[in-house]
Amino acid sequence: MTDHLLGDHLPGDRLLSGVEPDPAGDAGHSGAPPRTGFFTDTSVCIGCKACEVACKEWNALPEDGLSLSGMSYDNTQGLGASTWRHVAFIEQEVPARGGAEAPAGGGPPTAEGRTRLPLADTDDGNGGGAGGGTGGELRWLMASDVCKHCTHAACLDVCPTGSLFRTEFGTVVVQEDICNGCGYCVPACPYGVIEQRPSDGRAFKCTMCYDRLGAGQEPACAKACPTESIQYGPLDELRERAALRVDQLHAAGVTDARLYGHEPDDGVGGDGAFFLLLDEPEVYGLPPDPVVTTRDLPAMWKHAGAAALSLAGGIALAFAGPALKRFGRATGATGRKGRR
Ligand code: SF4
Ligand code: SF4
Ligand code: SF4
Repeated sequence: MTDHLLGDHLPGDRLLSGVEPDPAGDAGHSGAPPRTGFFTDTSVCIGCKACEVACKEWNALPEDGLSLSGMSYDNTQGLGASTWRHVAFIEQEVPARGGAEAPAGGGPPTAEGRTRLPLADTDDGNGGGAGGGTGGELRWLMASDVCKHCTHAACLDVCPTGSLFRTEFGTVVVQEDICNGCGYCVPACPYGVIEQRPSDGRAFKCTMCYDRLGAGQEPACAKACPTESIQYGPLDELRERAALRVDQLHAAGVTDARLYGHEPDDGVGGDGAFFLLLDEPEVYGLPPDPVVTTRDLPAMWKHAGAAALSLAGGIALAFAGPALKRFGRATGATGRKGRR
C-alpha cells in the first residue's frame, strides 16, 4: 500500500529517517515475518483497564501505589518504568444538547456516537445539577496508550549497549539485563514513553510481549481487551482495517474520528502502534507532529566533520607558514653566496 512512497529503497539506506518499508530486514533479520503491531481503536474503549492489569500480570511489573491522584478516576496517570500500558481518562465538558448554553470554558462540539454522560441535566432537587447547573455535559475519552514501536526508534539509535534492539517482528525491545542505566534513551524518545526505574536506573517499556510473539501468541493486553479496542496483527492489515473504521465512524456522524501514527512518511516513519482518536492528539497528551530525535544526526556529523577539517587546515597553516618563511630565507642566502 505504500509502494508510491518507497522509491528505489535499498536495505540499510534509511536507518535514521524517511520511509522505511522493512525495519526488521534493515536490522539484519533475513526472511523476517510480516511486520506486526497494534491498532488501538479508542472509540470502543470502555476504560476497564484490563489491558493495564494484564500487562502487569504477564510481565510481573511492580504496582504503582494505591494513593488517589485527586485529578481524575485515572490513578496511574501515565506510562512509566512500571506501567507499560496506560489507559487515559480524559474528562471534557461539552455543550449540552437542545441548544442550552455551553459551560464556561467551552468544549468541542458534540457529535452523534460519542460517549455522553448527561450529568448537568440531572436536577439534584435544589435547583442544581451534578454539572453545577451550567447545562453542559461531560464526556470521557478513553485511550490505552503504549510504546509506539517507531519505525525509526531514537531510543534504539542512541543506546550504547545494544540493550534496545529491533526484533524480527519489527518491534522495539529493551533488555533489562543489558541496560547499564545511562538514560540516553529517555530524552531521545519523542513520545516520552521509556523511563528509568528510580530504584536501579535501568530503563523499561513495553516489549510488545516479545516472549509471547515468539510462541505464536498475541500480546497479553490485546488478549485481555474485552471490546477489541486493542487489535494486534500484521501492520498492513491493521492499517486497512483502521481506514475502514474511520469511514464507518464518519458515516455515523462521528466526524472528529481520525488516525494517529499510521502514516509511513511521518516524522518517525510511522508507528508500529497507531491509534484511532476522537479529538486532537494533544487532548490525549500525544505530540501532534513527532519527529525522530536522531533525524539530523548525519547532517550534524557532516558539519562537525567540515569544522574539524577546517580546524586541522588552520593548524597546519599556522605551523607551515613560519617554516616556509625560514626555508625561503635560507635558500635566498645560499643563492646570493653562489652568485658571488
Ligand atoms: S515510542 Fe519511544 S520508547 Fe517506544 S520505540 Fe519509539 S522512541 Fe522508542
Ligand atoms: S504488548 Fe505486552 S508488554 Fe506491551 S503493553 Fe501489552 S502486555 Fe504490556
Ligand atoms: S482492556 Fe480494552 S476496553 Fe478495557 S481499558 Fe484496555 S483498551 Fe479499553
